Formats: sequence, structure tokens, C-alpha cells
Amino acid sequence: MKLKTLIALSLLIISQQLFSQENYKTVSKADSTKTYTGGKAYEVKTFPQKFKAKKPKNVIMMIGDGMGTTAVFAGLTANGGHLFLDNFKQIGFSKTQSTNNYITDSAAGGTALSTGQKTYNGAIGVNTDTVAIKTILEMAEEKGLATGLVSTSAITHATPASYIAHQGSRGSYEDIAADFLKTDIDVFIGGGYKHFAVRKDGRDLTKDLEANGYQVLRDMNDIAKVKSGKLAGLTADEHNEVYPKRKMSLPLSTQTALNILDQNKKGFFIMIEGSQIDWGGHANNTIYVVNEVLDFDQTIGKALEFAANDGETLIIVTADHETGGMALTGGDMKTGMVKGAFPTADHTSVMVPVFAYGPGAENFTGIMENTDIAKKIMNLMGF
Ligand code: MG
Ligand code: ZN
Repeated sequence: MKLKTLIALSLLIISQQLFSQENYKTVSKADSTKTYTGGKAYEVKTFPQKFKAKKPKNVIMMIGDGMGTTAVFAGLTANGGHLFLDNFKQIGFSKTQSTNNYITDSAAGGTALSTGQKTYNGAIGVNTDTVAIKTILEMAEEKGLATGLVSTSAITHATPASYIAHQGSRGSYEDIAADFLKTDIDVFIGGGYKHFAVRKDGRDLTKDLEANGYQVLRDMNDIAKVKSGKLAGLTADEHNEVYPKRKMSLPLSTQTALNILDQNKKGFFIMIEGSQIDWGGHANNTIYVVNEVLDFDQTIGKALEFAANDGETLIIVTADHETGGMALTGGDMKTGMVKGAFPTADHTSVMVPVFAYGPGAENFTGIMENTDIAKKIMNLMGF
């Protein structure tokens, strides 16, 4: 009896192991979020590599949140082997570690890129003593340049916030929104309406923005019609939706912002964020990552169009960190199929790519700290 029980138990354990192994495979195959099956590829234009100036008059900083090299290559495969990023000939790597963690979050990562100083995870434009640090955007403003922020998340979220706000904690969305009023930023487009308008302190900051001369608009079609003046585009209560569902268009918002900022004779600084590449990584969702990378790359196409025509504009494309430890375990350059795999639902520590185009681009090659990117931009702009 004892022996029989033992045998039965052993068989049960073995069968469960076999079943669970198969079951695991089945789940993996059936998981429709792991494979991007391909879509219509867009045409990638080639832009000239000769520029009017030696130093940039304008800087377009583009952050793909969580966009590691694998995410870039997933997008490249999905688009049939080419991206607008192909136009970037000066390429480096950025080390993203924060002061208190081998693995950064977007607040410390954003602050390193906006100020040139490393800080702790969660910090928005402040140092390790929670003292405000001047950002590139604020320096540009001081010099009389036009400034802008565009994001597919809430405009009060960590990445854009790092360029304009100074708060000890990234979750202080209403305080971050109030910090926008302390600046003279010309254009900002993103979600986060409720952090301005529906607040614990009862203030409606959209009224203050209007009093300061901003056109406060919520509809993408209205935003795209703006040709000049100050613009606050708040396209969602909180975050904009996932691409391609969202009504907010990152390429169109970028084009609109660039045309407005270009009217400043002294030049401009703008940060444009593809926010949700990171969220696709957190969700371990290959389709989400690919769609967001392709939307971001087409936005890069708009920036290139402007910069190539202008000849005095430097474009930097980078990430604040990698997300998901994404790997590609299959793909097809012809059909655009990409199969992703993820060992974690969190950020990882690896270096992220830095792509540079325009006057001064040659300074952004090699392995650098994330803070070096900000310092190099400040240096080139004479801040
Ligand atoms: Mg972000
Ligand atoms: Zn993240």
C-alpha cells in the first residue's frame, strides 16, 4: 500500500511537471501580446548630412522612455529594415545609473538629462539634498530662446516634469503643474489636464495660463491650427491613450510646436517624449513596444525634416533607461514580424543608445554618462 501510494505520487509529480512544461509553452505561444505580426511599413526618407552652422541654434531633445537598443531594433524590423533613425550617423551609449540605484527610474533619468546632475530615483529637477537644479529648458529661457515640451504621457509625468519642475517626489503632480506657471515656456502639449484644472487646492491653473497669454486647448485639431503665440495643449485628463488609439498625435504635436518655436530669432530648446515605449516594456507587450517605437520614429522624421531644412538644429535621440530587458527571439524583415521576450517587468541597468544629427552631433559618440548629454548640449548652446 505504501509502495503503491509512493508510485502513484511519483507518477502524479512527473505528469504535473510534464504538463506544466507544456502548459508553459502553450501559454507563451497563445500570448498574443508577445508577437507583433507585421503592419504597413512607412517610407523612410534620407536627409542631407551637411549643415549651415558649426554650432546649433536650436536643440530638439527626443527621449524614448524605456527605449533600449532592442526596442529600436524591434521597430526597425517591424518597418521592414529601416527607420528614420537611419539618418543619425553619430551614435553613442549612455550610462543611466542614478545616485542611489544601479537601475534608474524616469525621474532621476530625466533629471540627469535635463540638468547634467545625477540624483536619486523619484527626484524631479532637484539634487540629492532636494535643492532645485536649473534645467536646460530654464537656461534656454534665461537666454531668450523659445522653449517647449511635448509628451504622450501627462505633461506632469516624470520625464517632461524633469525639464520644468522642481519637486522632491515625482508623484506630486499638482505641485509639478503649478511649477509650469513659474516659467515662461512657450509651448507644451501632452496629457494631464486634471492636474491643472481639478485640484485639491481648488485652483484652476488653466485660468492662470490664459491670464498669462496661453491658448489653452484640449482638442488635437484645434492645437494643430495654432501658428503662433503661447500654447498649452492638454489633450487628456491624465495620460494620452495607447498608439494608435490616442487622439493626440505625437508627430503632429511636434510639427506644430516646432513651427511656433521657430519664430524666435534667437533659437529654441524643446524636449519631445515617446513616453509609452516604457509602458509597453512594463507590460511585456511586444506589440505595444513596436507601435510606440514606430510612432516615435515617425516623430523623429518630422524633427529631421525641420532640422535638415533649417541647417542650424541639433537633434538628440536617446532613452532614460531600458525597460523589460527586452530580447528578440524571432522576426522577419520582409513581413515585419517581431517576437519579443522579457525577463522582467521593470527597468534594467544597461546602456541606452544616443543618436545625434546636426551641427555638434560629433560630440555625442562613445560611451558617456547620461549627465554628459546635458553638459554637451549646454556647452554647445553656450549656457
Ligand atoms: Mg516618461
Ligand atoms: Zn518605466
